[in-house]
Amino acid sequence: MIHEILPVGILQCNCSILGDEGSRTAIVVDPGDNIAEILDILERHHLRVAYIVVTHAHVDHIGGAKKLKDLTGAPVYLNESDLEIYGMLGEQARWIGIPPPEKTAIDVLLRDGDLIECGQIQATVLHTPGHTQGSVCLLIRDSGLGVRDSGAGTRVASRESRIPTLLAGDTLFRDSIGRTDLPGGNYPQIIRSIHEKLLPLDDATLVVPGHGPLTTIGRERERNPFLQMV
Ligand SMILES: [Zn+2]
Repeated sequence: MIHEILPVGILQCNCSILGDEGSRTAIVVDPGDNIAEILDILERHHLRVAYIVVTHAHVDHIGGAKKLKDLTGAPVYLNESDLEIYGMLGEQARWIGIPPPEKTAIDVLLRDGDLIECGQIQATVLHTPGHTQGSVCLLIRDSGLGVRDSGAGTRVASRESRIPTLLAGDTLFRDSIGRTDLPGGNYPQIIRSIHEKLLPLDDATLVVPGHGPLTTIGRERERNPFLQMV
């Protein structure tokens, strides 16, 4: 599996490009912005986008979805419970001082347990409400060969194959969790989601948060200050 992580937009959302080397098809997760750079990466690996998956409908994660869909024809996937905040895209853009991006139709509604297959890549959808009501994580199992950073090149250089990868959106960060003070946020709920859906995963699971540095499930179970309370 090809996995490129590109921080996009002023909030530096981690956009993941997951490419299947056999079928040359890709899943693009959280194309918040910098669509030209995302297209460059796809072209460099000779990949065609099969899925545009959005972990939640905050503008820094979904802002470029329409542009990417218009340019590639790929369908956009989002959990139903975030349609309401997707409707507030213009307002969200004002909060962070960027021009409001255009909205697109959501083609497929993601549900807990859905399996997204892209060649050899199998991504399972975990519904993890709390940061927003429709927040999801993607668990990619047995996914292959290595992580390559396309940005500053400072993160993970390589990893063992067979280690699962979790694209955590804004649910779990290294040493932190997603904020819950925005519309749709709920603190007890995000804690519950992490305990019920994420901490049971294997310690070695590589976590790619929606922002900032990578981590693992084991590290966060042991050291994340928000997860130490019983
Ligand atoms: Zn967010």
